[in-house]
Amino acid sequence: MTQRRGESALIWFRRDLRLGDQPALAATAERAERCLAVFVLDERLLAPAGAARRIFLIRSLRALRAQLAGRLLVVAGDPVEVLPELAGRVGATGVHISADCGPYGRQRDDAVRAELAKTGIELTATGSPYAVTPGRVRKRDGEPFRVFTPFYRAWQDHGWRAPAGTSSSTVDWIDPATVAESVPLTEPPAPDGLTLPEPGEAAASATWQAFRDEALVDYSEDRDRPDRPGSSRLSGYLHWGAVHPRTLLADLADDLPGAEAFRRELAWREFHADVLWHRPETARRNYDRRFDTFEHDSGPAAEAAFAAWAAGTTGYPIVDAGLRQLLAEGWMHNRVRMVVASSLSRICTCRGARHFMRHLVDGDLASNQLNWQWVAGCGTDAAPYFRIFNPITQGQKFDPDGAYVRRYVPELRAVTGKAVHQPWTLSAGPPPGYPLPIVEHAEER
Ligand SMILES: Cc1cc2nc3c(=O)[nH]c(=O)nc-3n(C[C@H](O)[C@H](O)[C@H](O)COP(=O)(O)OP(=O)(O)OC[C@H]3O[C@@H](n4cnc5c(N)ncnc54)[C@H](O)[C@@H]3O)c2cc1C
Repeated sequence: MTQRRGESALIWFRRDLRLGDQPALAATAERAERCLAVFVLDERLLAPAGAARRIFLIRSLRALRAQLAGRLLVVAGDPVEVLPELAGRVGATGVHISADCGPYGRQRDDAVRAELAKTGIELTATGSPYAVTPGRVRKRDGEPFRVFTPFYRAWQDHGWRAPAGTSSSTVDWIDPATVAESVPLTEPPAPDGLTLPEPGEAAASATWQAFRDEALVDYSEDRDRPDRPGSSRLSGYLHWGAVHPRTLLADLADDLPGAEAFRRELAWREFHADVLWHRPETARRNYDRRFDTFEHDSGPAAEAAFAAWAAGTTGYPIVDAGLRQLLAEGWMHNRVRMVVASSLSRICTCRGARHFMRHLVDGDLASNQLNWQWVAGCGTDAAPYFRIFNPITQGQKFDPDGAYVRRYVPELRAVTGKAVHQPWTLSAGPPPGYPLPIVEHAEER
């Protein structure tokens, strides 16, 4: 389609905070000459997010605004009311988005589409935060996949488009000050000692390039080692769309060592999004409904156990290190997420998943809820429900020298070697200030 001279459009950014490889921007440029860039702070969507995710979002918006030389309008409110109002003010013929595939986003977009249609404005979705838009990869009989490995094969067979060559000069940006006043991009107070990654598209790209050039070669092994910088740490960028997975997959096409293992992890993200797309109720309920009747522990002892878990004072060093890393960095290593989640599943998976969603910068409904369910054995590819990741053997295997534990648990810094994973066995007992384990692991199992 050729550009329509003089026409205006809106591009409504959501989880796609970048200008490169941005199909919605390419679609905007095809249909309009002038474009208003908008982000809507929607409290209903932000409610589960704590300080780390909110701060990272605010900083990411600042980075996007800087890329656009200030031409990003940030407003607060209900998109169903805000978008038609702004579209009317600039005389837009269309509003462009990258599809949101989550349950709330899909309903919201339907409502926005219906509202815009009342004044003849079209909402056009081009692309999504995934290499393959959820819902597209199916079994031969048209049914969705329930198991990862066959999904992974079919996902690769389906393939994805090449990156879209877009940049800030793709359209003429409308000065937002001529349309409405932006809300200030004020960060909520940060908890003491919180360290977050650099926000924005340039930082995402630099993180990817450093990982690709230095760590990808050892990724298949090192991705399981929390004591090493073995994984990409791209999850926050992928969640907010500072980089698109298609950009990464295009780079992996050269079959670099480690590429296959990394492609597989990106595919897990796509699989969970696909599952949530087909089964939106799994955001709140078990994928495997037989577990709906499973009773979790409750009462004062369970409350105390949850509080100790959340604070990282369970007495299991690798669990505590993970939970403290979460509070300090808004991120936790994948292997440790599994151990930490498994250590809580008897008390209550939902509460643990909510705690993760509050503190993770990459907190993502599909990946979080379905990984929690996977660990608890009530999700896809289910592990037997009695399998609990033993925090001692997991620690000894994946943090063999204890460096990860000592980094996040200062009370244990004087304990050398792998003894750090069982401080209660030291002749003098655990060092001062470090608790005894709260639940006897064998008993829990
Ligand atoms: C209980 C639990 C909760 C989780 N919650 C989230 C969440 O809210 N948001 C989130 O992005 N990931 C979540 N994960 C998946 C995984 O732990 C993180 O994606 C990963 O640790 C991010 O670090 P990285 O970018 O260095 O990963 P890398 O190892 O470098 O992987 C590259 C990318 O692949 C994707 N990925 C890797 N593993 C998984 C996986 N198991 N499931 C889905 N995507 C994956 C991520 O986008 C990641 O950035 C969760 C895992 C568990 C066990």
